[in-house]
Amino acid sequence: MKYLLVILLVLVVFWIWRRGRPSPKKAAQPGRSQGKSSEGKEITEVVACGVCHVHLPKSEALIGRDGFYCSEAHRREAGA
Ligand SMILES: [Zn+2]
Repeated sequence: MKYLLVILLVLVVFWIWRRGRPSPKKAAQPGRSQGKSSEGKEITEVVACGVCHVHLPKSEALIGRDGFYCSEAHRREAGA
């Protein structure tokens, strides 16, 4: 009977200790970045012209030897 009281006391102390700690469920919430990453693929990459530094979508940019250019004239001006 004496041991039973000791075990009960340990259990009560352990229960109080666990209650005092912050809930691990709130701390370990998975981020919602999964939805954002799928949307990020749709955003077009922007590059800067090597001559006039105008920013334009990569799909519209002309690819030269040293980078991207906004127009054929600037690509020729850069000597690419
Ligand atoms: Zn340019």
